[in-house]
Amino acid sequence: FPEETVSLVQARLREVQDFPAPGVLFRDITPLIADSEGFGALIDMLADRYRGKVDAVAGLESRGFILAAPLAIALGVGMVTIRKAGRLPGPVVGVDYDLEYGSARMEVQPFTVEDGQRVLILDDVLATGGTANAAFNLVEQAGGVPVGLCVLIELVDLGGRSALDGREIEAILSY
Ligand code: AMP
Repeated sequence: FPEETVSLVQARLREVQDFPAPGVLFRDITPLIADSEGFGALIDMLADRYRGKVDAVAGLESRGFILAAPLAIALGVGMVTIRKAGRLPGPVVGVDYDLEYGSARMEVQPFTVEDGQRVLILDDVLATGGTANAAFNLVEQAGGVPVGLCVLIELVDLGGRSALDGREIEAILSY
């Protein structure tokens, strides 16, 4: 990714201590998307990177949606919504995964993915990789070919990259 655009994006991110729980350093992308220059530059950069390489863009609820929708339009492809359990009307396929405390489930409607479609998965932050791993499996269950995960921010110490061993991952920023 071009350094100039990466710096422009980076300058518009916020760090919030102890949100949503004590000990968490929350990476807040809202100042970036509130700024038309920064948001536009980000989407243009992603479109340049993935043009012609993907057939669909999948967004992870909910901040992944914010990135996936404009990118899909810029690439001239459709967008797939991967959502928390119970939000999508059926038919759906689902994947359960473990969180630090408890578990979660993500779902997709298989009719939104065409057989063999190359799907890029998009989210704001890669932490432990649990959510992204579920997304890779869901795209496959729906008949697509997940070509990779792209995140704005990778939190390296949380080990998402090793949890997603063998998967293609691109991060615009790493901390
Ligand atoms: P994980 O499944 O652990 O990789 O967590 C990824 C999901 O949690 C992403 O959808 C992020 O939006 C969110 N997330 C995890 N950690 C943070 C953080 N420090 N700041 C902002 N979002 C986070």
